[in-house]
Amino acid sequence: MTERKRVTVLGSTGSIGVSTLDVIARHPAEFEVFALAANSRVEPLVQQVLATQPRYAVMRDEPAAEQLRSRLRDLGSDTEVLAGESGLVTVSSHPQADYVMAAIVGAAGLLPTLAAVKTGKRVLLANKESLVMSGALFMDAVQAHGAELLPIDSEHNAIFQCMPLNFADGLERAGVARILLTGSGGPFRNRPLHELEAVTPDQACAHPNWSMGRKISVDSATMMNKGLEFIEACWLFNARVDQVEIVVHPQSVIHSMVEYVDGSVLAQLGNPDMRTPIAYGLGWPRRRQSGVPLLDLIKVGRLDFQAPDETRFPCLRLAREAMQTGQTASVVLNAANEIAVEAFLAGQLPFPAIARTLDGVMEKAALVEPIDLDTILRADAEARALAREQLLQYRKH
Ligand code: NAD
Ligand code: MG
Repeated sequence: MTERKRVTVLGSTGSIGVSTLDVIARHPAEFEVFALAANSRVEPLVQQVLATQPRYAVMRDEPAAEQLRSRLRDLGSDTEVLAGESGLVTVSSHPQADYVMAAIVGAAGLLPTLAAVKTGKRVLLANKESLVMSGALFMDAVQAHGAELLPIDSEHNAIFQCMPLNFADGLERAGVARILLTGSGGPFRNRPLHELEAVTPDQACAHPNWSMGRKISVDSATMMNKGLEFIEACWLFNARVDQVEIVVHPQSVIHSMVEYVDGSVLAQLGNPDMRTPIAYGLGWPRRRQSGVPLLDLIKVGRLDFQAPDETRFPCLRLAREAMQTGQTASVVLNAANEIAVEAFLAGQLPFPAIARTLDGVMEKAALVEPIDLDTILRADAEARALAREQLLQYRKH
């Protein structure tokens, strides 16, 4: 009898978190929830605690943690409640946690995800922002601590599935010519450009194929999501920028491809449902039921491909340039993007001004290398301040 794997789910109340708990619940003999962690909404976490009875539940927000504690006490639960970033780090680095699903959104995921890596766990990486921010530092920590890094982002999971076993020795040596990173183009792929000034947050979040949290949905609409994924792919697979090509594929049935020097192209296909990569990450190297219906190719009918349009989606260019420039540029781009997206979602910024804000911040930010964790956090804070400044100016006009 093998022991059940104990899983910490960071960001358990979000879109990826809920899908993760769904997959875990399908395999009670293999997995158990060790800890749940979320930001500030108490009630959804109460329900998840009652359903999964973890050892720990964490709220990043301290007053929310206090509320959770009293709610759980009243309900007779013996789950221990922790608070703040230190609580997140405790459950992600806890010696009794085997696997950590890193599904907090944004830069807030960096320290808890790194803590999981540094304790040599299996890390299921959904939080792409943490890798974009820390790049080599993150990948070096994976190596140094023997962590098992399983990409959960559907594209990177697909690439991982299509890669040869020896890809870590270098793509050229492994016979890989290119990574073909697919993206749907989001809800505004064909929208007349002049209409973009007036699109609403709800329209931007109405993704044609995927149901996701609001931040990544806006990123998909600007294609910054694909830009961040471009950077993520370079780090995960040790690829140069010229070895990763973005291909627009509106149906989101192919989740990405690997092209070999002999002309072979391997693709991973499936319905657009994150439970597939999550089940793959939890079960690897075994395959497990995910609850995702099998793909009906006849119903899909056709698969289309287009070149990405960098005029419509300037964020693609910004991300490639950031990756070429150096680590701090990626930190700055990510931080400024988080601020601009937040402002757009709050109705304070027209949609095309997200990319304009990023352009402005990238021009102004000081880019200091080499980079350690302190410099990363400082560059992140400075970029946020610059972005806020930029937004103020913007609102005067
Ligand atoms: P979401 O907004 O639905 O959920 C975010 C979760 O993080 C919530 O549980 C929230 O409580 C928690 N959270 C937010 N801020 C926090 C903080 N400061 N401290 C602790 N917890 C915090 O987001 P999502 O769509 O589930 O995405 C999560 C991550 O996964 C993102 O990095 C996203 O890019 C990545 N991702 C998501 C999808 C998807 O299909 N949703 C696909 C690929 C990658
Ligand atoms: Mg993705």
